[in-house]
Amino acid sequence: MSLPTLNDYVILEKIGTGSYATVHRAVKKGGNREVVAIKCVDSTTLSKSAIDNLLTEINLLKILKHENIVSMKDFFWHEGRIYIVMEYCDGGDLSSFIKRKSQLPETVCRKFLQQLALALRYLRSHNVCHMDLKPQNLLLTRKPVLTLKVGDFGFAQYLSTSESKFAIRGSPLYMAPEILLRHEYDARVDLWSVGVIMYECLFGKAPYSSSSLEELAEKIKSCKPIEIPKGCYVSPECKNLLMSLLKHDPNERLSFDDFFAHEFLDLAYAPIEENNEKAITLIQSAVKADTEGNIQEAFHLYCEALRYFIPQLTNEADHNKKKHLRMRVNEYINRAEKLKLMCMESSSLTESNSQNNDKLRQLCSTGRRGILQSTSLPYQELRILSKSTTDMASALEMGEVGEQYLAERNYDLALEKLKACLGMLVPLINKEPPGRRRELLNQQIQIWMKQAESTKGLLATKAVNDSPRESKHPQDQCLLQ
Ligand code: ADP
Ligand code: MG
Repeated sequence: MSLPTLNDYVILEKIGTGSYATVHRAVKKGGNREVVAIKCVDSTTLSKSAIDNLLTEINLLKILKHENIVSMKDFFWHEGRIYIVMEYCDGGDLSSFIKRKSQLPETVCRKFLQQLALALRYLRSHNVCHMDLKPQNLLLTRKPVLTLKVGDFGFAQYLSTSESKFAIRGSPLYMAPEILLRHEYDARVDLWSVGVIMYECLFGKAPYSSSSLEELAEKIKSCKPIEIPKGCYVSPECKNLLMSLLKHDPNERLSFDDFFAHEFLDLAYAPIEENNEKAITLIQSAVKADTEGNIQEAFHLYCEALRYFIPQLTNEADHNKKKHLRMRVNEYINRAEKLKLMCMESSSLTESNSQNNDKLRQLCSTGRRGILQSTSLPYQELRILSKSTTDMASALEMGEVGEQYLAERNYDLALEKLKACLGMLVPLINKEPPGRRRELLNQQIQIWMKQAESTKGLLATKAVNDSPRESKHPQDQCLLQ
């Protein structure tokens, strides 16, 4: 097979210019006339280090294969120019996307961040850091669904033990403070850039947006804590992630592992291939538990499966597949709701008979109880033992309120209360001396944790039940419907 040359392509319009390259749309001659993007760099005007960067980019793109990383198809030299042939991203870059929409709703921001995080997780598994993450380097494809792809690996680096050897790289607006202040840094600079990108998605501008380079340098050096613009609302999880990424001191910044595990991203349930399999396995277990009459377990399993199914459903582009999946998901939701009612009925039955029914008493103590745990015997015992400890008593009350909301299908408030209650109980159990109360408390914490997880599953179903017209943000529809 002969090597590719420029003559194999018809070069079309310019689609972008970066710091040292121009990018054109192009069509491959003959065959299936595939549309590609060709990045062209005039190597005669480049310094040795710039050529090195380009060669790094070529070598990296050759081995990196991931849905959220722009893929390289070919590269060649032609009359002093270097050409990189890439998959064409028909949605432009994230910078223009944000400009068009002014700012993005949290749901859309989460979706992009999930995809960026998946790419970064893959890069880390190949010991690569990008070093120039910014909206202009994040490309978008529209089909089959809007997908983000990390591009421009010109500044990327293989991680090494002596990471501080890095030279200054990247764009000042997205550059971590330690690069400018200490000239010594490591892969964690990528996390700072993710924070700036997230900020720009949410509020339409970078946190240190400035009219001059001097003003920008001044703002970064002052280490002024970053604030949410006045009048803008973000959810607590979203704010927590944003603020943890935008920590000036890299030692205080969120670690990569904590970033990948962060609640706002919910990466564990992202619509990726391996999660489809998990969802199916969970549904099979749910059906089994259901047929065996283990209603409590079946309820939790359906809810857990729904957490995987809902993102898949919102992400499905094929009309027919989506319709089919929606029908199945609705069936699971209905079953989960029915099981929840059955759990509640069984717990009120437990309550009314528990005084003198040994069998039910035994069921209570083995944990086969209904949704309203607060009516169970061990819980009542815990309540009595906690009466004199004000913090514990009010945390338990909060949990009861959460359960009540769960029974009433008010999942937002149920989750809020259960989380608040667990937030109080977990530190308390660490201080609790061994004994009956600790044992009961531990049992109750496990129960409420499971309930909080199931509530998340039920909460996710709101995205399916809410009609598009009810969406608070019209922009969501481009992604969610
Ligand atoms: P540089 O290394 O000079 O910054 P980039 O690789 O970032 O060059 O490309 C410059 C711009 O060209 C990007 O910001 C983007 O708008 C556009 N672009 C780059 N690659 C593609 C692609 N594969 N598909 C569509 N547009 C692209
Ligand atoms: Mg670029």
